[in-house]
Amino acid sequence: MSTYDDNWGMIGHEWAVELLASRLVSERASHAYLFTGPSQIGKSTLAVRFAQAMNCTDPGSNGVPCGKCRACDLIGRGIHPDVQVVSAEGKSIKIESIRELQQSLALRPYEARFRVAILTDMQLATDHAADALLKTLEEPPASTRLLLTSDVSESLLPTIVSRCQVIPLRPVSIDTLAEALSHWHGLDEHEAALLAALSGGRPGWAISAIENPELLKERAEIVNAILAVLNEKRVGRFNYSEEIARHPELQLVLETWQSWWRDVLLLVEGSSVMPVNIDRREDLQAISFQVTPEEARRALRAVRHTIEALDKNANTRLALDVMLLEMPYL
Ligand SMILES: [Zn+2]
Repeated sequence: MSTYDDNWGMIGHEWAVELLASRLVSERASHAYLFTGPSQIGKSTLAVRFAQAMNCTDPGSNGVPCGKCRACDLIGRGIHPDVQVVSAEGKSIKIESIRELQQSLALRPYEARFRVAILTDMQLATDHAADALLKTLEEPPASTRLLLTSDVSESLLPTIVSRCQVIPLRPVSIDTLAEALSHWHGLDEHEAALLAALSGGRPGWAISAIENPELLKERAEIVNAILAVLNEKRVGRFNYSEEIARHPELQLVLETWQSWWRDVLLLVEGSSVMPVNIDRREDLQAISFQVTPEEARRALRAVRHTIEALDKNANTRLALDVMLLEMPYL
């Protein structure tokens, strides 16, 4: 029996798996693909599975990687000699990494059918690195496949995007994800529903929360801090800003704030959409009685602006100060 199911062992994204598998079977796969979507949604996992499917040596594989042959095993563990992963060193993908990749792509594969380069988070490539990669995309060596990932295609050069087949991955439905978490990871119904909701439909997030229970504890503390800081005046808010500016998981902090205010807004507007923070329903309810829809909307906008500003390397402390002053005073 194969290690993977027909969906390549992926959670969700069935249409993408189907499309890629059919291209392999009919030998019409493009030279380059670009997988886009939010972090931890499954872009890199899909790229790895695709590399396995391309190179699987199980004669019965027919577009579905067996997950067990030598090729599938080595690719899955990230140590196949013909499959290279290029990712950011520090904060960017540098031209040196692309040059190194190009040298190895010039060689014939050692043992695989295709040499595969997986370039993750291409939005982090420097301009020089992106220009260098463009040359490879324009004239890809034979037997080479390039699999890129990025948050959104707009953050890449249009000339790069136009040479790739773009596969946009969207959040997996909460029900599908909860079911998969029960099936593959043995969670009970309640835990699975909570993690699926908190993940916002991102399987990678849910799985990392299973592997690292600290993540949920951390999040509970962030929610407690949100509740506390709304009762603080300016000074208390600036103190909190100073504290979270140094937080090792600032992204988790901001994502939690964002999902919190989205939930509050749903409640004050009487929406029938399920809140994300289902384990904190009473706290959500309590806040929703104390703020107006306009205040909730302003708070949510402030968090989104902060996330965008920090993506563009704004001053962290300043951005957080501004955000906290926009929060309602309870
Ligand atoms: Zn295989």
